[in-house]
Amino acid sequence: MLPDHPAYTHCSLCHEPIVPDRPENFGQVRGNIEGYLDTQFPLWKCPKCQAIHSLQPVDYEEIYAKYPLNKRKLDIFARGTLKNLLNRLQKAGLEKTHRILDYGCGNGVLVEFLRLQGYRNVAGWDPYVPGWQDKPEETFDCVIANDVIEHVDDPRIMMKDALSLVKPGGLLYLGTADSEGVEDMGDLERHIMRLHQPYHRVILTQSGLKKLGEELGLQVAASWQRSYMDRLVPFSNYRFLDEFNRALDHNMNLALEPNAGKIMVKHPILWFWAFFGYFFPSAYEPAFLWKSKK
Ligand SMILES: [Zn+2]
Repeated sequence: MLPDHPAYTHCSLCHEPIVPDRPENFGQVRGNIEGYLDTQFPLWKCPKCQAIHSLQPVDYEEIYAKYPLNKRKLDIFARGTLKNLLNRLQKAGLEKTHRILDYGCGNGVLVEFLRLQGYRNVAGWDPYVPGWQDKPEETFDCVIANDVIEHVDDPRIMMKDALSLVKPGGLLYLGTADSEGVEDMGDLERHIMRLHQPYHRVILTQSGLKKLGEELGLQVAASWQRSYMDRLVPFSNYRFLDEFNRALDHNMNLALEPNAGKIMVKHPILWFWAFFGYFFPSAYEPAFLWKSKK
């Protein structure tokens, strides 16, 4: 289970050592992106803090060169879920004049959305996407790092880095996949979407994320357990997305194709999840909004 040169020898969060003689903490799951669909990736779950680690080292340049989510369009589904994300920030006082950074912005879908909503000072940064690779040096009223912390080697270092771009008294929003609910490391196929191998390097729990904020002296302005995608609007919930991907044998490239919706004909149960999936979440996506010290 443990590769010859594992990406981790200790829990990146609580420093618990990875010991091979505890098989119940190890598992494997296939990738859900073309190129990795037939590869099994070894995973380890920290028995102390429950963070799940991807043990096979990766070359980030290589894996992001073919990442289909970086070709995502601002379609009706994206607009709906990003509106939900924006509502969270607006309730905490985000204003249209504020300087905002989308940290790990992918191809800039959220940047584009915020600009269309009238936010004039929005920047994005992503080290692996051409056009977004210039890292800003100034600070921002609000830094958003949505679905980013699970994509890096060291969550603590990434969070400190994101915080260094928040101006004193500003906001840091961080949302992520959740390792809580992944009980049996011997049965990971049903968690394939949240595990998202080999892209998700460390998957935390909500309390693990909370602790990181406390370590950095941050004050919680708001927190959520449910995914920002979860709304009562049909087709806009995590469970539907999970079941939709399952119907496509968890090939995310297929799920992102414009004609992917045709699968609804072959799998009519998907209509049920489209309308009622909100009430049956298959995973949470914890998020925190922190206020930095003045
Ligand atoms: Zn740990």
